[in-house]
Amino acid sequence: MSWIGIKQRNPQRKFVAMKLRTAMDDLLNQDIKGLDRIDKIYHKVDGCMSYVNMQKCIQCGMLHFNKSNYCESKLCPICAYLRARKYLSVLVPRFRNMLERGYKINFLTLTIKDTAVLKYGLDIVKKAWRYMTNRDPFSKYIFKNMFIGGIYAIEIKKGKNSKLWHPHVHLLVVKDHFSKDFDVIKGLWEMACQKVANTTEKISSVDIRGVHDKNGKLTKNINSEDTITSAVVECVKYVTKFSFDDYSSMDLLELCNCLYNNRLFSTFGCMRNSEDEDLDEDYKDVVEELVCTKCGSRDFEDEVTSIDKAMNMNVVDFGKRHYVSKKEQIAGLTAIMEVMLRREYE
Ligand SMILES: [Zn+2]
Ligand SMILES: [Zn+2]
Repeated sequence: MSWIGIKQRNPQRKFVAMKLRTAMDDLLNQDIKGLDRIDKIYHKVDGCMSYVNMQKCIQCGMLHFNKSNYCESKLCPICAYLRARKYLSVLVPRFRNMLERGYKINFLTLTIKDTAVLKYGLDIVKKAWRYMTNRDPFSKYIFKNMFIGGIYAIEIKKGKNSKLWHPHVHLLVVKDHFSKDFDVIKGLWEMACQKVANTTEKISSVDIRGVHDKNGKLTKNINSEDTITSAVVECVKYVTKFSFDDYSSMDLLELCNCLYNNRLFSTFGCMRNSEDEDLDEDYKDVVEELVCTKCGSRDFEDEVTSIDKAMNMNVVDFGKRHYVSKKEQIAGLTAIMEVMLRREYE
């Protein structure tokens, strides 16, 4: 857990809460019904980290960040950051392990034509994905032969020029043999989209994405620790980061309604295992041993405040060595992951 990371995102959290509040007032004035969802999310984001538990060292008085009540909304910048951290700490080591065993990794994006109604577009994307990887035996066979597993993340945004919704899928896939599969996946995706949208028009496209290595250079070759980290960050950032600036009040309402009960991220094939349940769990910090990083004492007393008050106090993390939570014991974030994450979430 990084107190600094949370602190940096608190102003963004307030901005999002303000946006939701403004949208709600605006829609109320227009007498638009069905604002429950947006109201709920507003209260969640607004109340995120209203309770911050710090441990005060009895010997030297240093305040250490301990735990808090997180809202866990998909739209909350603090919770999105924590979620991204958790995804990374589980997924990067798993992908790295595949690379070490000689597998190849590709980054693909599957898109559909922009749509005026978000729910419609989102439905097509999700149904087409299910059709291609599961429902249609022919597609399923080819897909599984090309990719033995991977992660799947839906990005929701508005098209810059069209001003319409542009939901699409980012895939990080694992391959056990080299093959040129761009045309194949393009054909499968088009067939699936046409089938579920019930049309013969061309409504989809596929592209192979490059990622930035640690020097910021764009590459399609994902075979090192920093490029794989970068690819996972790229993939998960879309489900954990939304752009609010271009959204109207109605857009926000539509987004809030569509995000409810909609999974935007999942793993499949060889990338799926029991830890996946963990990925959607909340961020409980099970502190097992606390040691003051300033004086080494182990005696603490509770000190409780809100995030806004805590921001003005001199609060520190327990630090990697001294702060032990169960999650962080499973897989720690490396320095490279921290840097990549910071860069993407600033
Ligand atoms: Zn101390
Ligand atoms: Zn939150």
